[in-house]
Amino acid sequence: MEKSWQKTFDPAASFRYNIESITMRVGGFLVQERKHFKKPVLFFFAILALVLIAFGTYTLRPSNRAGMAQAATESAAQSPQQNAQSILILNYHKIDTLMHSLSVNPADFRWQMEYLKSHGYNTITPDDLIANMEEGKPLPNNPVLITFDDGYLDNYKNAYPVLKELGMKATIFVVTDFMGGKKGYLDWSKCREMEKHGITIASHTVDHKSMTDLTDEQLKHELVDSKKAAEEALGHSVDYIAYPTGAYNLHIADMTKEAGYKAAFTIKYGNADKESNVYAIERVPVFHTENTNRDFVERISYTPLFQQFGWKKS
Ligand SMILES: [Zn+2]
Repeated sequence: MEKSWQKTFDPAASFRYNIESITMRVGGFLVQERKHFKKPVLFFFAILALVLIAFGTYTLRPSNRAGMAQAATESAAQSPQQNAQSILILNYHKIDTLMHSLSVNPADFRWQMEYLKSHGYNTITPDDLIANMEEGKPLPNNPVLITFDDGYLDNYKNAYPVLKELGMKATIFVVTDFMGGKKGYLDWSKCREMEKHGITIASHTVDHKSMTDLTDEQLKHELVDSKKAAEEALGHSVDYIAYPTGAYNLHIADMTKEAGYKAAFTIKYGNADKESNVYAIERVPVFHTENTNRDFVERISYTPLFQQFGWKKS
């Protein structure tokens, strides 16, 4: 089913699918929340939401019907050009055939990387991202920062060869105490090898505890000691961290800055832009689903639309 979609992509069906899926989500939300609304108010908001969605979706519709793939590129291409600060940051975990949501199949991963490449996306590093966000340094057209959390061995086996072959950059956030000792995780020598070919290694703390549960002393240990361990093993400064499970608060963000990091990544959904807190940067997660690649295209195409409507940085 998935394979046949990849080959014979029907732009009209896809367009309908996207209206339906967004409408269903908004509708579902309104139904869940209806106890808070009087009926006429609910009706008014439902109509308003549908009008906004129809309008927003219409603006993304391919005028020449050349396919949604092109529409995806156009919408993604327009957004960074109209607002140079809107940057897509993808978040992966495992690249394996385990068939769970955090494990994208290697074949799907390759499809997605080839999709990005053939649609004019350019991979960037966290240094590029921060130089743009803080100093306005220009980025290539359609920038994308590809990130992986946890430091799984399958990143080396199944993602790295594809990235290397296609000349794409990526960033892996590793849990320093898992390195080289824990089954299924990377080791430092593989990290050093990957760093020679466009992969940036960064911190995902010492042992992946949820940071909002920790005392200040424990937080300091997770932040400072993971940075130190990675710097010793890699031989250069390690400036970036992703919060385990995305859990953070402003106090943790402050401590992260104090520990010497230049930026930190969350799993808040959205593109990064000039309003983003560099110690709480948004990302767009990629999941294994019933139709992984279609959902991937939908996500990277519609994130700018959600942001236009202000459905994000609440
Ligand atoms: Zn993690």
